[in-house]
Amino acid sequence: TPSYPSNCLAFLNSPPTVLPSSTAAVRLNIIIVGAGLGGLATAIALGSTGHTVTIYEQAAELGEVGAGIQIPSNSTRLLSRLGLDPYLEKYVTEPETISFRRWDSGNVIGLTKLIPNFRKTFGAPYYVIHRANFHTALHRRALDLGVKVKLAARVVKYEPQEGRVTLADGSVVLGDLIIAADGVKSIARNLVDDSGRPPFEQTGFAAYRATVDVAKMKADPEISWLLDRPNLNIWIGDQRHVMTYTIGAGKSFNMVLSHPDDTNPSTWDQSTALSDMKREFHGWDSRLEKIIGMIENTIKWPLVSGTPLSRWTTGRLVILGDAAHAMLPYMSQGAAMAVEDGIALSRTLTKITHPTQLTHALHIFEKVRISRARKMQEASLLNGKLWHFPDGPVQRARDAAMKPETVGEVVSHSPNQWSDPATQMWAYGYDAEGEVDRVWGEE
Ligand code: FAD
Repeated sequence: TPSYPSNCLAFLNSPPTVLPSSTAAVRLNIIIVGAGLGGLATAIALGSTGHTVTIYEQAAELGEVGAGIQIPSNSTRLLSRLGLDPYLEKYVTEPETISFRRWDSGNVIGLTKLIPNFRKTFGAPYYVIHRANFHTALHRRALDLGVKVKLAARVVKYEPQEGRVTLADGSVVLGDLIIAADGVKSIARNLVDDSGRPPFEQTGFAAYRATVDVAKMKADPEISWLLDRPNLNIWIGDQRHVMTYTIGAGKSFNMVLSHPDDTNPSTWDQSTALSDMKREFHGWDSRLEKIIGMIENTIKWPLVSGTPLSRWTTGRLVILGDAAHAMLPYMSQGAAMAVEDGIALSRTLTKITHPTQLTHALHIFEKVRISRARKMQEASLLNGKLWHFPDGPVQRARDAAMKPETVGEVVSHSPNQWSDPATQMWAYGYDAEGEVDRVWGEE
């Protein structure tokens, strides 16, 4: 087990407060490429501290693919500090528990109690939300802070040393800092990583993403109980698992069905995805199979893990979010890491007192974030192993180790949190700003 920084919990004595609007001594003109969850969260963090921020997004309309997303406590705490609470409150759902279930019987083999434990232990709630609502909340907050969002504005060229980007229409924009939050297919990453390695590794897994009509589920008493409370339920079995939870005040049942597939995504036929999915999970808990049978549409999604990078910055360019650290969704932390990136970058920039210190600030930022994101990528890959044992002695040993126990305030023995309160603290109690302060102080 890697050793984790003991920088957690310092914040618990200080209740979340919205950041003051003017904490940066050097106000920068900042370009962000990409208005995904990462680009928007970063824009808010930087706008909150007084920088001038413009986002360039290639899409003509803003939106998010897929239905649900989990916002773990390490992220909700930061979002609260960024003033998101009033923007999120009408959209979020706070589940009480995460239940781990055996793939064939559906019997509960592990339980993580989220309410009240996560608020009490990690100082912030654990939410689930519709992605589109999360995106809308971030977008509105960004606009209210004066962030400009330019749509249909695709960046085709970066000149990191000059702080210059060129858009598809030929226009050229200059900034003190360029932040590429341009996702897993980032073109900016190639400028900071000259190793020649592929940008990401296929993990051998793919996911079907789908929602189910809750009206149909409600009509069947064998499965309607899953809607009684908005809890997370995850069925785990050989090489596969199914994550489920309700979003949108119980209006939508969200499912991610993970399965092995190491073929090239460009060869996938989405028109057979629905029948392929039903075949993949045939023989699982009959109640789960019934729900899968109700799915009318699905998309098969590649699950990649970003190649670890030794640098995230060159000249006036820095990458963050999936561009820097795509990860398996098995810790539910990809977007949460982008939120941490944004606030860590903002914190680092508040420390400079002269524009010439920008390079040093970016160096501190990448030092802090590369190590955190790398460990979260590893944790996500590890969950992919722990959740997917075939029936047999190793799986039985895992299940025995998952028996719920009480450790302090944390009731949890599930592989999601590695059965380890210290690791839970590392994941959910992480203090992104405190870590910047610590490393800045050391250098
Ligand atoms: P993106 O969302 O990819 O955004 C990049 C943006 O940049 C896009 O809008 C794109 O159009 C734009 N862009 C790209 N190139 C250019 C260009 N040249 N010019 C202008 N614009 C450009 N994370 C969690 O925290 N919790 C979860 O529960 C969770 N579940 C997941 C489940 C699944 C199945 C998957 C696949 C992922 C999950 N994630 C989860 C991860 C999360 O979705 C991602 O980490 C997150 O959305 C990445 O955000 P981003 O802003 O970095 O990238």
